[in-house]
Amino acid sequence: MKVSEILARNKKTLSIEVFPPKTSDSFEKVRVATESIAAIAPAYMSVTYGAGGTGSKFTLPIAENIEKKYNVPVIHHLTCVGSSVENIKERLDLMHNAGIENVLALRGDIPDGEKPADWHFKHASDLVSYIKDYGDFCIGGACYPEGHPEAASIDEDLDFLKLKVDMGCDFLTTQLFLDNAVFYRFYEKALAKGINVPITAGIMPITSIKQFGRIESLSGSAIPDTMRCCAEKYADDPVAMRRFGLDFATLQIADLYNHGFKFIHLHSMNSPEAAIEIGTSLSNYFGAELFSGKL
Ligand code: FAD
Repeated sequence: MKVSEILARNKKTLSIEVFPPKTSDSFEKVRVATESIAAIAPAYMSVTYGAGGTGSKFTLPIAENIEKKYNVPVIHHLTCVGSSVENIKERLDLMHNAGIENVLALRGDIPDGEKPADWHFKHASDLVSYIKDYGDFCIGGACYPEGHPEAASIDEDLDFLKLKVDMGCDFLTTQLFLDNAVFYRFYEKALAKGINVPITAGIMPITSIKQFGRIESLSGSAIPDTMRCCAEKYADDPVAMRRFGLDFATLQIADLYNHGFKFIHLHSMNSPEAAIEIGTSLSNYFGAELFSGKL
């Protein structure tokens, strides 16, 4: 099923992101974890893709397994950084033949020393346009409530986001954010730019202090004082930090639902336990419609 059809129902959804194994040695472990997440029947799942090809060959088998075995719609992430038109066409053919209907069209991070000027696909909008012409896929794009780290300003980033949507995005998914006020401001600005496709909010439970540095450097998302001031006292207590991180994410989602934002995409970090804990708390309060399956 296409994600655009699911979002068009305009009901609260809790969809889940997973990542594929980096090597064949960990394939089984990841397959089992992603199956446990699929078994709770989230609205849909997405499977990330290694930019430049790292681990990317495992995205399709993991995505196909979820869709075929559990009947959960999936989004296959796809990056175009450094790819030729032939590479992308071949990948889309494989996805299409495997029955995948949804793709998150991404540029990917530019490896050090490489020059986008030499590439056919310089921006995600070029990939969106290519997939639109290819046909058949429901296309998602990434967006950044705090602005993409390369963007000169949020305003400029939103102008390019509008272009990406105009090229054919059916929905957008945000970078993870930890301060809902940032998302609310971004949403208003996106609407004012005429961006009117559904936006799903990316939420990641932060269950270890070690994640702080990685999150700030990789995603550019700031750790708000509201999180930092509480989390620091759990630095030596991993169990308490995990509990705090799951509760913080649950509160963030509850606040988004209460503000009328219905589409939440949870970064599961391949932990079925975390997804089930958060999903159960939310379903108890907001109704079991969040997951169509059992919790
Ligand atoms: P773009 O939309 O091309 O934007 C990148 C930068 O270029 C921005 O600063 C933008 O303002 C600017 N820009 C866009 N269009 C133009 C233009 N026409 N002219 C000039 N500047 C322009 N990475 C992975 O490797 N694998 C994944 O599976 C993955 N999944 C992700 C999922 C989500 C929800 C998000 C938010 C990110 C994900 N990423 C993933 C990370 C992503 O690849 C990086 O953030 C990357 O640096 C940008 O990709 P993009 O698709 O947003 O690029």
